[in-house]
Amino acid sequence: MKYFSTRGSPDLLTFSEVVLIGLSKDGGLFIPQTIPTLPSDWKTAWLNHSFTSLALEIFSLYIPDNEIPRKDLECLINKSYSTFRESDITPLKKIKENFYILELFHGPTFAFKDVALQFLGNLFEYLLEKKNLESLEKKDTNKKERITILGATSGDTGSAAIYGLRNKKDISVFILHPRGKVSPVQEAQMTTVLDKNVHNIAVEGTFDDCQDIVKTLFSDNQFNQKHNLGAINSINWARILAQIVYYFHSYFQLFSSLNILPNSPEANNIKFQYCVPTGNFGDILAGYYAKHMGLPIENLVVATNSNDILDRFFKTGRYEKIVKIVNDGEGNGIGGHTVYETLSPAMDISISSNFERLLWYLAYESIDTKSGKEKINLAGSIVKKWMDDLKSKQCLTVERAQLELALRDFKSDKISDQETMETIRRYYVPQDSRSQISYVLDPHTAVGVAAADRQKIPSNMYQICLSTAHPAKFSAAVEESLKSFSEFKFQEILPKEFVGLLEKEKRCVYIEKADPEMVKKTIECELEKEFI
Ligand SMILES: *Cc1c(COP(=O)(O)O)cnc(C)c1O
Repeated sequence: MKYFSTRGSPDLLTFSEVVLIGLSKDGGLFIPQTIPTLPSDWKTAWLNHSFTSLALEIFSLYIPDNEIPRKDLECLINKSYSTFRESDITPLKKIKENFYILELFHGPTFAFKDVALQFLGNLFEYLLEKKNLESLEKKDTNKKERITILGATSGDTGSAAIYGLRNKKDISVFILHPRGKVSPVQEAQMTTVLDKNVHNIAVEGTFDDCQDIVKTLFSDNQFNQKHNLGAINSINWARILAQIVYYFHSYFQLFSSLNILPNSPEANNIKFQYCVPTGNFGDILAGYYAKHMGLPIENLVVATNSNDILDRFFKTGRYEKIVKIVNDGEGNGIGGHTVYETLSPAMDISISSNFERLLWYLAYESIDTKSGKEKINLAGSIVKKWMDDLKSKQCLTVERAQLELALRDFKSDKISDQETMETIRRYYVPQDSRSQISYVLDPHTAVGVAAADRQKIPSNMYQICLSTAHPAKFSAAVEESLKSFSEFKFQEILPKEFVGLLEKEKRCVYIEKADPEMVKKTIECELEKEFI
C-alpha cells in the first residue's frame, strides 16, 4: 500500500512518509492508492474484538508489515489507548428507540481529537526513533533527527496535540493560541502541561493571526529546515485512519445491544445512519472510508452549525466560503468572507480542510471512459483545477453527476445556535422519560443530534450520533441552555480531572504582538531552555 496526492503529483509515498510529511509538496492531501476491502469473514472474525484489536486489523490494511511490523503496531495501539478512561474506549449509549450516541470523549482532553492524536503522538515517536536507528547503522551518527511540531489552535486541537506529544522523545511541540480567546478550560488544559518538550505561546490577536504566523514560519525555508518543522493538523492521514476504527466498533456494539449477530439473516434488514457534527470534515471522512471498505452504512449525515459551507455544497454542488456584505468604512457594501462565532466553536471554519479528499473520489468516480493510471492522473488534474478555482474565486462547483455521487453517501443539515440550545434542553428533559433517558449534550454533539432528529427514517433504521466533546468542556453553552432547570447542577457532570484545573501551575509565553519574528525568537529561546 502506497499513498499519493489528491492534486496529481505522480510520486508514490510510503505510510511513514505521508505521516511525517503531512501535506504533499503540490499542496494536495495524501490518499491511499486504493481503499482496501475487508476480509470476507470480518463480521464473524471481528465480532468480539475490543477497540484495540479492531484498530490492529484495520490499521494493518493500510500499513504494510514491512514498514511497521504487526507486533510493533500492536504495542503502539495499546499504548495509545491506555490513556482512555473507559475500557470500551468509545462506548455506545442508547438514548431512545433506534437512537444511540457514540461517546468519543473519554481520552485525556475530553474531546474526540484524542482518539487520533494519542495514536499520532506515539506514531511520530516510533517513526523518528526508527529513522534515527537506521542512520546510526549507516554510521551517519551526527544526523540525529528531531522534529519541532508547530500548530495554531482555537481550542481543541491544541490540547489534544499537547497530550498526544507530551514527553515524547526527539519531539518538541509549540502551540499558538489567541490570548483570552479560548475557553478557560481549554486554556488550562494546554498550559498546565509542564513537560519540558511542551511550549504554549499566547499571542495577542485572533486565531487567524496565529494561523498566519504558523504558515509564515512553515514557508520560511531556513527556519523550517533548521528546526525540522512538522504539523499535526487534521489533514494528517494517520488521524483519518485512527478514526475509522470507531465506526466499526460502534457497528458491533449496536448489534450486540440488539442481541443480533451481524451475519444473521435478521441483520440484513437493519440499516445504519451516522450523524456527525462536522467542521474540517475529518471525523465524517473516516466514516466514508469505513463505508467504502465495506461497512454497511446507509448514510453519513453532515451536521454543520451556521458555518455551513458543507451543507450548502451538498444542496447545490457549489463549495463557496460565506460571503457577507461588509461596510468598507465609506458607506459602500463590499463582499467579504466571514466565519460566524457559534456555540460550537470547534466547528467554526470557513472551509473544511479534509474535504479535498472527498473531492478526489468524486472526480475519480465520475470518469468512466479511462482506466488505471490515466484515470488517477485525470482525477488529480480535476481536483487541482477545483482547488485553483477555490483560491482565485473563493468558490468551486462540481458537475451534477459528481454531486449525485456524493449524495449516495452523504446527507446534510445546518443547525442554528437556537436549535442547539433547544436540543440540549430537549435531551436533558425528555418528553417521554419511559422511552428516553436524560442526557447532557455538549453543544457540538447537540448539532449532530438536532440534525439526526430532523431526518426522516424508516423503522428499521438505527441512527448513531457521534459525540465529539464532554459537556463540561463547553460549560458556558451548556449552563446557558439549562439555566431554567433548577435541578441541573453543573458540579454533577464535572469530571474530577477538571476540579481545580484552573488553579494549577501553568507555563506559557505571552507575545504582545502577532509578529512572526517575535514567535521565531521565542521558539529558539524555548528550545535552548528545553535542552539545558
Ligand atoms: C474538531 C471537532 C469537531 C469537528 O471535527 P472535524 O473532523 O473537524 O469535522 C467537532 N466537535 C469537536 C468538539 C471538535 O473538537
